[in-house]
Amino acid sequence: MLLSHRIRLEATAEQCEYFVRAAGTARRVWNWALAEWQRQAAMGGRINAMTLKKQFNALKYVHSDWLDAAGRPWLRTIHRDAHAQPFSHLANAWARYFAARKNGKPAYHPRFKKKGRCRDSFYVANDRLRVWGRNAVLPKVGRVVLAEELRFSGKILGANVSREADHWFLAVQVEVPDEEALRCRTGNGVAGVDLGVIAAATLSTGEKIASPRPLRSALRRLCIRSRRHSRKMKAARAAAGLVGAIPKGTRLPKSANQMKSARRLARLHARIARVRADFTNKLTTRLCRENQAVAIEDLHVKGMLANARLARSIADVGFHEIRRQLQYKALRYGTVIVLADRWYPSSKLCSAYGQKNGTLTLAERVWTCNCGTRHDRDVNAAINLQRLATGALAARTALPVASPAVTSGTVSGKVPEAVGKVTPARYEHGHQDGSGQEEDVAH
Ligand SMILES: [Zn+2]
Repeated sequence: MLLSHRIRLEATAEQCEYFVRAAGTARRVWNWALAEWQRQAAMGGRINAMTLKKQFNALKYVHSDWLDAAGRPWLRTIHRDAHAQPFSHLANAWARYFAARKNGKPAYHPRFKKKGRCRDSFYVANDRLRVWGRNAVLPKVGRVVLAEELRFSGKILGANVSREADHWFLAVQVEVPDEEALRCRTGNGVAGVDLGVIAAATLSTGEKIASPRPLRSALRRLCIRSRRHSRKMKAARAAAGLVGAIPKGTRLPKSANQMKSARRLARLHARIARVRADFTNKLTTRLCRENQAVAIEDLHVKGMLANARLARSIADVGFHEIRRQLQYKALRYGTVIVLADRWYPSSKLCSAYGQKNGTLTLAERVWTCNCGTRHDRDVNAAINLQRLATGALAARTALPVASPAVTSGTVSGKVPEAVGKVTPARYEHGHQDGSGQEEDVAH
């Protein structure tokens, strides 16, 4: 099983300086490759990453674009992987784009990266990478201290070095033998989980788990820091004598104060993301650890984010991330994840007798069914979802083990009609590669 552990690096100033240059190289090579790809495609050529890389190798030490002021090829100071990997990332990005277009999903073609606007990262292949204890050896920088030890043992396939605010991280990909990757569950429950804004998760047991909603609590500070930063941008524009739109390609000089405020702002954003990640990780691990089946709604997150009033709260909980984590963690715990169809009326069904209350509005948190049962809206929905999970589990155990449609952790086959439609879970391994291009996932 391919697992990845992202570890913070305790890098020295010189090491950080190399990371910045290596990430910049990866970005510049990506941009070169993308421009060349587009140019050759416009001329009707058939391009692939290998031929493009060959063309790049022919010019990378001689072309004037890739020489420093003294006429030396500066790519020699950066390890090969940083400028070789963007080609395969680009090929993947195009492949994803064409696959999405073929399947009629929203497709986004690869885009150019901009310094300060894109993810700073570069790749290190396993031939020059060594990890032991709290140490890693990276090409050109030597030994770097890790904030914690690598938690997996197995064959290291490679690593990505990336930056988040003012820290650098090493994400090590490890091929872990299945018997080591699998985890024991502490319980065999069957849970329905209703995701919401007031309580991030309501379990079918009636338990409500609140999200820390880190964005909401940091919003005031975020506004202050953003405003301060924007004032410094304005000052820089005024100092340069610019009025109105900045001409394309302009580089304003950055003051020390401006860079300081940018770092402050970035640190707060990173903190918000970390608090959220801590919550989702703990929640999803707990759900997978304690249950043999978990049912959640296949929420249309993108559509929900279109609701301007709810978007911030929804994004603050991170529904999509909860689902993604449940799906990959389910593989390790042998938990079945059931995605209820988007149109399954989990909130509107009476969990006691199954009548549908078609008039239920979003504002009604508690409602009384015709049968006389009083329902808490979220708990009722969670119980309905739990019923789906029970049905799916029964259907799964009834299936022959050798059925090719059944992969570990995925629900397949028919579920009793009364409980509604169940779609098999999709796994989004390799959701993001080092190219920083998000795989487009339609929900
Ligand atoms: Zn009822």
